[in-house]
Amino acid sequence: ISFMAATAFALEAVVDLASQMADDNRNDIRIEAALAKLYGSETAWRIADELVQIRGGRGYETADSLAARGERAVPAEQLLRDLRINRIFEGSTEIMHLLIAREAVDAHLSVAGDLIDPDRTLAEKARAGARAGGFYARWFPGLVTGPGQRPGAYGEFGPLAGHLRYVERTSRKLARSTFYAMSRWQGRMELKQAFLGRIVDIGAELFAMSAACVRAELLRTTGDHGPEAYRLADAFCRQARLRVEELFGRLWSNTDEVDRRIVDGVLAGRYTWLEAGVVDPSGDGPWIADAAPGPSRVENVRRTLP
Ligand SMILES: Cc1cc2nc3c(=O)[nH]c(=O)nc-3n(C[C@H](O)[C@H](O)[C@H](O)COP(=O)(O)OP(=O)(O)OC[C@H]3O[C@@H](n4cnc5c(N)ncnc54)[C@H](O)[C@@H]3O)c2cc1C
Repeated sequence: ISFMAATAFALEAVVDLASQMADDNRNDIRIEAALAKLYGSETAWRIADELVQIRGGRGYETADSLAARGERAVPAEQLLRDLRINRIFEGSTEIMHLLIAREAVDAHLSVAGDLIDPDRTLAEKARAGARAGGFYARWFPGLVTGPGQRPGAYGEFGPLAGHLRYVERTSRKLARSTFYAMSRWQGRMELKQAFLGRIVDIGAELFAMSAACVRAELLRTTGDHGPEAYRLADAFCRQARLRVEELFGRLWSNTDEVDRRIVDGVLAGRYTWLEAGVVDPSGDGPWIADAAPGPSRVENVRRTLP
């Protein structure tokens, strides 16, 4: 319940912040908007799943079934089903990860893209190297230290200041990790989808932490539930920090290579023996329907409409 309350608070803060930035009409909000979509879809799904779990069998029952038994018609399972689609459409979670990662490394690709492009000649790489050298000589030192290391920074946020210092420090650590991965994998980095996904998820948590702290401070100054908002923001930030630390650990300690080999095996059909004895509920029929319209398809559509 604490996860649900704290995350609901942060989620509202994220959506509000991204919407306000859009309304301001003076910011490039591609990353913030994409993070709001990604984080909103994923966390709302998790909250709804917890709701179903908390309501137990009643959570699994349809609203009609509850009403028929004389209980309040809470459509918890309907909520869960309806939220599930948000992880698929309007940019599925996997595609959002790729899109945000691409935006995040865009600045690097524009200065050092030729350097990591396997199709460039040595002379082109040398020129790109000189250009990139100048950029990184200025950029990299900025990643080493900042207000996040200064005790007392963001003091206006009172007990939340420590969380904002963490966000600032960790954003720089995230940029260093991304830079390190780029130098290590170069052009092959785009193939490291699991790695990129974790980078984006860390960024999303940090964005949500900042949004939650700013919203708590706003509510405090407007006098609307300030102390409760501060408590929720603090709980959310503590929970998010644990997730961030876990994701950082999994950047370099994971089963990605093992997983890749297993996936290759699955796609090559080496594990079909695992399916022995399993009843396939899908029956026969093509995996993807014929695109050409025909009478039988029209009939199918008619049948599904009430
Ligand atoms: C109820 C509903 C309403 C819809 N309404 C509309 C609508 O109004 N307008 C409209 O245009 N469309 C609509 N759609 C379609 C929707 O936009 C697509 O379902 C969605 O874009 C996902 O595409 P797909 O279904 O072809 O899945 P696929 O693209 O086949 O993806 C299948 C899975 O693979 C993953 N995947 C795909 N590519 C990659 C990749 N490169 N790397 C890693 N993972 C990947 C996806 O994330 C997903 O999990 C609707 C769909 C539904 C179910």
